[in-house]
Amino acid sequence: MPDAPTIGILALQGSVREHQRAIRRCGAVPALVKQAEEIALLDGLIIPGGESTTIAKLMSQAGLTETIKQAAEDGLAIFGTCAGLILMAREIAEGEQGLLGLIDIKARRNAYGSQAESFEADIAFDSLSSKKYRAIFIRAPLVEATGSSVTVLASYQGKPVLLEERQFLVSCFHPELTDDLEIHRHFLKMIEKNKGQVKQKRG
Ligand code: GLN
Repeated sequence: MPDAPTIGILALQGSVREHQRAIRRCGAVPALVKQAEEIALLDGLIIPGGESTTIAKLMSQAGLTETIKQAAEDGLAIFGTCAGLILMAREIAEGEQGLLGLIDIKARRNAYGSQAESFEADIAFDSLSSKKYRAIFIRAPLVEATGSSVTVLASYQGKPVLLEERQFLVSCFHPELTDDLEIHRHFLKMIEKNKGQVKQKRG
């Protein structure tokens, strides 16, 4: 692909390699991101699953928190999976603020219960696709509330598990752990749609 977008994967902790593989399989170029200077080179960024408190600490140490916030304000598209969703949420139960505060949702960490810390389930797409999608949940966060400008793309047990707002996409589950590329492809489409705006603002 001559115009293949470069997708950064925040590579501080968590399921980095799996996202790298998925992005490569979609025909885009993955770039592992560890330093703030690398953000400016990206067309999109993935914040992977892992341990949100660990990732948050490492992000702040590397000066990445402020850099990512600024890039997001300037139009960078960002996809957060699981811990990534927690870091992107505006609010964390109870009343704690999210680190990046990019998407208008309230998330509760580890809310799917201890005896079902990891499970697979079919989720229902509200708009993205009509096919059956098997999602892998690992100590997943629950989205308890969503703002009016957030679109729910898929749900499980009546709760949203895949959502988007402006150029931000978040999932409670791990699309990088299944072979289905639909959700990564959707993120790449969001980037394509968002391109004009990013070019203007980010040069
Ligand atoms: N429970 C983890 C957290 O709170 C997220 C789990 C995951 O990313 N798979 O950060």
